[in-house]
Amino acid sequence: MPNAKNTYSLKGFISRFSDEETCREYLAKIRWRGKPRCHQCGNNKNNYKYNHRPTYKCSNCGTQFRATTGTVFANTKIPLSDWFLAIKLIACTKKSMSSYQLAKELGITQKSAWYMETNIRVMLGNKEYKNMLNGITEVDEVYMVRDVTKVTKQGHGTNKMKVLGLRQRNSEIKPPGEIRITIVNKVDSKTLHPIIIDNVKVGSWLMSDEWRAYNNLEGYFKRGVVNHSRRHYVDGDFHTNNIEGAWSHLRKLISGTHHRPTPEHLQKYLDEFEFRYNHRKKSLECIFKQAVKQSDIHTTHATIRQNLRPLANNPKRSKK
Ligand SMILES: [Zn+2]
Repeated sequence: MPNAKNTYSLKGFISRFSDEETCREYLAKIRWRGKPRCHQCGNNKNNYKYNHRPTYKCSNCGTQFRATTGTVFANTKIPLSDWFLAIKLIACTKKSMSSYQLAKELGITQKSAWYMETNIRVMLGNKEYKNMLNGITEVDEVYMVRDVTKVTKQGHGTNKMKVLGLRQRNSEIKPPGEIRITIVNKVDSKTLHPIIIDNVKVGSWLMSDEWRAYNNLEGYFKRGVVNHSRRHYVDGDFHTNNIEGAWSHLRKLISGTHHRPTPEHLQKYLDEFEFRYNHRKKSLECIFKQAVKQSDIHTTHATIRQNLRPLANNPKRSKK
């Protein structure tokens, strides 16, 4: 009997999730925990399962549904076993994979691989599964360049792509600390403040450098500031070393795998990086399970575009 560790090795994984029925059953178990739920009315009682086909009928509204209904796997002809393997290769590995490489690994066209990768990244960035950061949180911004010859200015006014990051420090209650990263149009207080307030619990400590856009947040957070321009990097607990560490991992990912992403696609790579970073200490089984759980997001071209700004209007926040 293979143990969980072996099941989630690449070899074990391929033999476990080799047929459609096993994959469907796994998806149903992760999504419904034994109680198939109608996507129309939410009813999960006495729903009827058809013989010889993977379809259920809602006992309340009569709608027919499947385990894949309402997920990124719906409405495609791609087998679930291919989706699962792609998730395993993208989400459960230390490094990312280009669509060219994924196409080779799965024996599919590059166009299909690109479609799968895009949807998997949207799924990994599913906002419904993001909680508020709390405790001590570091904030910082980083600049990504697509074409060095087109950079007009350095510093905060640059025309490079701007990315804002929040990194919760490791704590005994919730190790390891998670990050949230998003593309921003500007790095002014009008743009940054709502994102920070939407993602960090009011009353937490917020650590930053001296950039003026982080001023005037004292009404929401306890503040710690280090002045990098005066070579003042660490003062006890006041520093931004953790978010800067995350930036160095991110830069390696972008330059090593995605090379020069366009502003249109960068957010999806950020979402993938964020997911991998936030689950870095978990087992392969937990990471795969979490990724599949997050598949309940309906993707269209519009939602993929909408997802380019995932941090603004965090749903966890607006429910309060
Ligand atoms: Zn129903």
